Amino acid sequence: MNYSRQREIIYDTLARNAVHPTADKLYEIIKKENPNSNIGIATVYRNLKVLSETGQIKRISGLEESEHFDHNTHTHYHVICKKCGKVYDVDSNFASNIINEAEKQTGYIIDSYDIVFRGICDCCQKK
Ligand SMILES: [Zn+2]
Ligand SMILES: [Zn+2]
Repeated sequence: MNYSRQREIIYDTLARNAVHPTADKLYEIIKKENPNSNIGIATVYRNLKVLSETGQIKRISGLEESEHFDHNTHTHYHVICKKCGKVYDVDSNFASNIINEAEKQTGYIIDSYDIVFRGICDCCQKK
């Protein structure tokens, strides 16, 4: 399997798993779905690094100790489950002037921010 095919599988798997997996979790899924591929954990790490450097995916830090990855590069917020660690998107339309407000208050020119909601997901509430 060549490098570009490996990268395709990694990106594709990330895009299909809306839970914003960590590199380890993503590797688990890839192994399960492609048992015969030669994609190792180091390959996953390397490709996630390249994809986030080129802006095709986003790294999300500050959720947990390990980084999560996101194929959605548009502005949005995240909500993380404190029990199972699943991360979903929250639409940012309801607070779209948040950057302007922060810039007004601080005088900074702001180019990025992270907003994280924490709680218990639907699934874990039922357990
Ligand atoms: Zn949960
Ligand atoms: Zn996201």
